[in-house]
Amino acid sequence: MAEEPSPESLDVIAVAPHPDDLEILCGGTLAKLVKQGYKVGIFDLTSGEPTPRGSLETRKQEAEDARRLLNVPVRINVDLPNRVLMDGPEARFALATQFRKYRPGIVIIATGRTPAASPDHLQGGLIGEAARFYSQLTKWDERFDGTGPYRVPHLVYVPFPFEAEQRSWHSTFVVDISDTIDLKIAAVKAYASQFDAARFARVEHLIRSTNGFHGARCGYMYGELFALPTPVGAPDLVSLVHGSKGSLAPVQIPGKDHLPMG
Ligand SMILES: [Zn+2]
Repeated sequence: MAEEPSPESLDVIAVAPHPDDLEILCGGTLAKLVKQGYKVGIFDLTSGEPTPRGSLETRKQEAEDARRLLNVPVRINVDLPNRVLMDGPEARFALATQFRKYRPGIVIIATGRTPAASPDHLQGGLIGEAARFYSQLTKWDERFDGTGPYRVPHLVYVPFPFEAEQRSWHSTFVVDISDTIDLKIAAVKAYASQFDAARFARVEHLIRSTNGFHGARCGYMYGELFALPTPVGAPDLVSLVHGSKGSLAPVQIPGKDHLPMG
């Protein structure tokens, strides 16, 4: 199951059903976290196969190429079934075992109902939330490969584009990925079996326009959107506002002196 088992704990674990989901949703942020010195792991719930265009071997190689491009040190495939991925006890145990093994400070979960795309996306989000809860449970070590209980302190959502619920999240935030957008695009391009030239042109356009929109609202060239399950708590209003918003950061849109803040 684990291609690169490591006893080392990870700062951030990102979880999604298919190899290429996380690159598209938050590849810029993952690459940036690595640059910032955090230990990051990508956890694909399934191989992504079968698809009309790929094979197990090509998908595995593409995922590895994308991992290297983003410089992410750990990429694990949890080996749950593609196309019929369902939230249930076994899937929860499998992912929670990884959480207990790698003991992340933050888990990022891809989430959202995508009626025009794979139903795995919704199920993966449910499995992620449940696994985060299961990870801390006592008296069940045998269900988690003998690993001990571990409570994941923080959960972050990364919503799929065109998410059907158009959810009103308690809180959202945008990470500035202006300096890693090209790495992100390159990592998506690594999935050549999924994106031939015409499809890649479309997905690149989708990424640049979506990330351009989210980034622009905070004064960045490109940004990735995240959400939290709760409101943001702050002991200090000033440091929160100064630290989190682009209002004090230089606007990075070339040729524009001023950008209205959203
Ligand atoms: Zn997917």
